[in-house]
Amino acid sequence: MTVEPRTSIVWEYAPAPEATDHLRLAERYGLFIGGTFCDPAEAHYVPTINPATEEPIAEIAWAGPRDVERAIEVARAAQPRWAALPDRERGKYLFRIARLIQERARELAVVETLDGGKPLRESRDVDIPLAAAHFFHYAGWADKLRYGVVARDVEPLGVVGQIVPWNFPLLMAAWKLAPALACGNTAILKPAETTPLTALLLAEICQEAELPDGVVSILPGDGTVGATLVRAPGLDKIAFTGSTAVGRDIQTALAGRGMELTLELGGKSANIVFEDAAIDQAVEGIVSGIFFNQGHVCCAGSRLLIQESVLDEVIAKLWARMGRLRIGDPLDKNTDVGAINSAEQLERIETLVAAGEDEGAVRRSVACSLPERGYWFAPTLFTDVSPAHRIAVEEIFGPVVSVLSFRTQAEAIEKANNSRYGLAAGIWTDKGAKAFEVAGALRAGVVWQNTYNHFDPTAAFGGYKESGFGREGGPAGLRPYLRVVR
Ligand code: NDP
Repeated sequence: MTVEPRTSIVWEYAPAPEATDHLRLAERYGLFIGGTFCDPAEAHYVPTINPATEEPIAEIAWAGPRDVERAIEVARAAQPRWAALPDRERGKYLFRIARLIQERARELAVVETLDGGKPLRESRDVDIPLAAAHFFHYAGWADKLRYGVVARDVEPLGVVGQIVPWNFPLLMAAWKLAPALACGNTAILKPAETTPLTALLLAEICQEAELPDGVVSILPGDGTVGATLVRAPGLDKIAFTGSTAVGRDIQTALAGRGMELTLELGGKSANIVFEDAAIDQAVEGIVSGIFFNQGHVCCAGSRLLIQESVLDEVIAKLWARMGRLRIGDPLDKNTDVGAINSAEQLERIETLVAAGEDEGAVRRSVACSLPERGYWFAPTLFTDVSPAHRIAVEEIFGPVVSVLSFRTQAEAIEKANNSRYGLAAGIWTDKGAKAFEVAGALRAGVVWQNTYNHFDPTAAFGGYKESGFGREGGPAGLRPYLRVVR
């Protein structure tokens, strides 16, 4: 099928790279413990690289077991004083952090893009403003905790360990730290190996905000640092976002230790397009659902369910729209799809895409010239997908969408729920009643109607089944950081 272009004008874009000369990055970053940057007990520095160029950006200290131990001691010593502050005073610190994120927004956006490969448009318009918004939101909750937990008396858990992934580095740090601190806990954050930089700039912001020493510690490193943190004595809770496999490992390690745990894991979220949907609008939603952040999104709409009567039309329009995506330099303000975060992630995507072809699905990848260096994957669409194919079942975490079709509403619900995950879903329909009915039947933590990947600090986010448990965001995000006294 051919699609008539809506306009005959073809827009050529001039390069529009964001300037980097305002950055104040150090050549080397230590660990952040007790309010200061310090060397690790055993000198271990590893460069963090720009995935779009493979060039090193800065050397990062990796924490070892003795550093983890020290960070916990410091956090434990700081916690009673932090919790004893008048609630409103704690709120003021969070408010200051939020304001400082806003002041340094341009720098943070560029660093996020350099370190992680995501388009500047996204780090500038989504990641950094939302990170500030989370601190603002929880600044407001600090003196209203009783009302956030249905008029119960509450107290902080104590010291929390927080492990975040590489897809939204600063935003995930904000999701974790803001509610934990508002509730009177102290925190030790482990950023992902490939994206430690904005967490370290957040450490500088904590210093600028004069946050009391030891309230936040930041320990970069690889998975072994996370595993050490999880197993270290002296913590009251672990909050983790990442893969289901690691989430399972953490749950096993914590079993029987009386610690609190929240897990925000993977997904294979269904984006459902009904025949009565506004199709052009749905196509835009499908694109942002799966190609936003190169598909490195836990709630990505990676399983596209389309009603049979509009299947050809939606696929034709989607494919035409995909052809207009601009792929390349993440620092260019016109770029839609940036670099894949790491060589390992690129390999995972390539393996699953190859499995899709081997199993008989039909692959279409956008023809585009990709930079010679760095990690890249062209936006890809799979049709003729069967529900048992690996690409319909497993999280690809890349710019790859698998299309399945359905005939009736009941079949759509059944197919959408036919997943071991249950993180998010999208529904595209003109009928409000249908949207409510379907949303109620879906086993997904978040359901969007006629939109997708719409995040809000006031709304709860979290999963069912192998997508994890516990909620982040809004008043529901306070509960996992509080103990109900009575
Ligand atoms: P991981 O789950 O391995 O990483 C998430 C975080 O956990 C990182 O900080 C990581 O450190 C740390 N970590 C790794 N191993 C352990 C451990 N044993 N104990 C404690 N912490 C640990 O995700 P990957 O980066 O390896 O990505 C693999 C797949 O996971 C992706 O392809 C994707 O499918 C999924 N994923 C899902 C995410 C989500 O938001 N739901 C986010 C990221 C990945 P380090 O970075 O050093 O490895």
